[in-house]
Amino acid sequence: MPTISSLSRTLQSAYPQFIIMPGEITKWTPTLATIYFSPDDEPLTLLHEVGHALLGHNSYQRDIELLQMERDAWHKAVEISPAFQLNFSISDNLVQHSLDSYRDWLHARSTCIDCARTGVETTRQHYTCLYCRASWRVNDAKICALRRRRNKKTP
Ligand SMILES: [Zn+2]
Ligand SMILES: [Zn+2]
Repeated sequence: MPTISSLSRTLQSAYPQFIIMPGEITKWTPTLATIYFSPDDEPLTLLHEVGHALLGHNSYQRDIELLQMERDAWHKAVEISPAFQLNFSISDNLVQHSLDSYRDWLHARSTCIDCARTGVETTRQHYTCLYCRASWRVNDAKICALRRRRNKKTP
């Protein structure tokens, strides 16, 4: 596995339509057509962000779409990986951890505040419980901003 910095240089020459540069966290910023990477992150997370970039991901309307975008970005990363001599698949631990953190996030947001059943996101950031009719609001979330949560999980 190359370092994230050397991978960034290879990716930059392969995808000149994007700017790939070091940053505080690894993320795709559509408005600037820029992919930032943290030198401490796994190289594959950078490939994942390139996946978001290639798919033109820029916003989502429902939480469930964010999970789908995460899955799609990983599939794209796997698809382009052989061109960069990287060998990984969707069953890779890193990928599954990342997707799990989104599933946990989605579960936490959709759990009814009153009866703990699963609610429905009726309009953007608003959930309603179909059983007890409770409704609640959730915060905005950015693409990939959740990945770092997995280390903070308490047993
Ligand atoms: Zn309820
Ligand atoms: Zn992502």
